[in-house]
Amino acid sequence: MVLFYPHFYCQLLAVFCRLQREEVGYVWGMDLLPFGRLPAHRARRFVPAGANLGDWAQIAPLFDRLEEAAPACDTAARLEHWLIDWSELNAALDEESSKRYIAMTCHTDNPEAEQAYLEFVEKIEPQVKPRQFRLAQRYVAHPLRPQLPPGRYQVFDRDTQVQVELFRPENVPLETEEARLSQQYQKLSGALTVQFRGEEKTLVQMGRYLEEPDRAVRQEAWELVAKRRLQEAEQFDEIFDQLVKLRAQIARNAGFENYRDYVFRKLCRFDYTAADCERFHEAVAAEVMPIVRRLQGERCGKLGVTALRPWDLAVDPLGRPPLRPFEQVDQMVGHTQQIFEQLDAELARGFRRMQDLRLLDLANRKGKAPGGYQSTLAEARVPFIFMNAVGLQRDVETILHEAGHAFHALATEEEDLHAYRSAPIEFCEVASMSMELLGNEFLEAFYAPAEANRARRTHLEGIVNIFPWIATVDAFQHWLYTHSGHTREERAAAWLDLMDRFGGEVDWSGYEKARANLWHRQLHIFIHPFYYIEYGIAQLGALQVWANSKRDKFGALQSYKAALGLGGSRPLPELFSAAGCKFEFSRSTLAPLVDLVRTELGKL
Ligand SMILES: [Zn+2]
Repeated sequence: MVLFYPHFYCQLLAVFCRLQREEVGYVWGMDLLPFGRLPAHRARRFVPAGANLGDWAQIAPLFDRLEEAAPACDTAARLEHWLIDWSELNAALDEESSKRYIAMTCHTDNPEAEQAYLEFVEKIEPQVKPRQFRLAQRYVAHPLRPQLPPGRYQVFDRDTQVQVELFRPENVPLETEEARLSQQYQKLSGALTVQFRGEEKTLVQMGRYLEEPDRAVRQEAWELVAKRRLQEAEQFDEIFDQLVKLRAQIARNAGFENYRDYVFRKLCRFDYTAADCERFHEAVAAEVMPIVRRLQGERCGKLGVTALRPWDLAVDPLGRPPLRPFEQVDQMVGHTQQIFEQLDAELARGFRRMQDLRLLDLANRKGKAPGGYQSTLAEARVPFIFMNAVGLQRDVETILHEAGHAFHALATEEEDLHAYRSAPIEFCEVASMSMELLGNEFLEAFYAPAEANRARRTHLEGIVNIFPWIATVDAFQHWLYTHSGHTREERAAAWLDLMDRFGGEVDWSGYEKARANLWHRQLHIFIHPFYYIEYGIAQLGALQVWANSKRDKFGALQSYKAALGLGGSRPLPELFSAAGCKFEFSRSTLAPLVDLVRTELGKL
């Protein structure tokens, strides 16, 4: 997982430069960061070296200066210079925010770290947002903008223009209300607990019981969670009813017929349409569902059951204990390094550099936030990886995934426009998901051959199984926002149609209500509308990179690295093409990839 930053956020409202400890008056606890003083990629020329980026009184004059300077740019070269100044400020704010986030997640038990992060989010970000917008307006309205080199600024221009064009003052209170409802959803779902074996457990904690070899335990755990969610079904529906109405209004205010069309523009989806997404759904139904059904049948046989029930999907079908790829995190880092050495010398150097700069905090320990992420220190232009390794195969997948993101950050080091040092999510995840597939070729660094194959099989089955869920969540949202005034019953019926189309051979009898309400657990539907298909698009890219590497390992890696080096400077189809992939989501793209997965699974 990466931190959720919608693309426009990266482009315009970014909150992420370098702080020199000695030069900064206000220090919120820089000793809480795992890495030491990081060398700046480039010396600052606009943001004062000693500026305190946690103090709005010091930040505001920088925005004032940029706003005043824009109209005074009387040559294209001066306007470009202005863009670089703006970039420098964005990178400085971006890095400040990242450092505070990193410190907080590495020390959840330190109130100072939490307070420093919250102060930034609550006091700085809301003030930054409207100022970024004003700078975007100055840029879009600038008479010399058409004289900038078009190839260089095409992507930046269209992204910036969209944010200015979609802004409606009357939508500001509606967006605040939307954020409030989103928070209500998070609060409601985050607070759900069940009593299991005399202990109170969160629904996330209950997930591990679905991996229990004892089927009765799995069923009991699954039923408890399903029942608990159903008790709140009315509330989830109520929140969603309000969200859907609000979103329709936001779209109308911006001059769109429906919220889907509005969001496609807002998310800067210039290079694919709603019809392309529908083609993706069709391709998944036609090409992926047969293999999903076949794998489900095999699972049924291995488990020795007559029908697969919802609680039979996560357990190892042969009842084996979990794989143990390493004992100590140092071993994980060492073996991962070995994998990169076998893959590519440049990537291996990048990972080594991260170790030398202490840009990894990988071991699980008390006082760390859960999960894993990669974050970029935007002014030093180096990546940082956070995770909670405990010695499981999923840790190996996570480090390979996050390293892919880190390689992406390292590849754009020389790019001076901050907005271009990150790519749209559809391509960011190509960087990371490709690295999982490419790295998995060398899992013998961790395992004996049979175990390595078991890990590969689990990974490939995971890829196959995620496609239908992505299609379901995406298709459902297309339906939701193009059927205004729908009733709850119609909504449930639309969901059930999709469950029939993409659910495979799972027997839900006796649990029809849980099945009809399954979408309540998918946070994106409530909080990040339409943000999900990106993972499907990226997986198509990653599978193509992997397929290319099967034919020509050296060539595939060269293209992969070249594409990463473009950052966000080119439109998506060009990023994909540089990586040696088609940016196309129909059956003709998917079919050979599914064939490859089927062939590879046959060898394992
Ligand atoms: Zn990711």
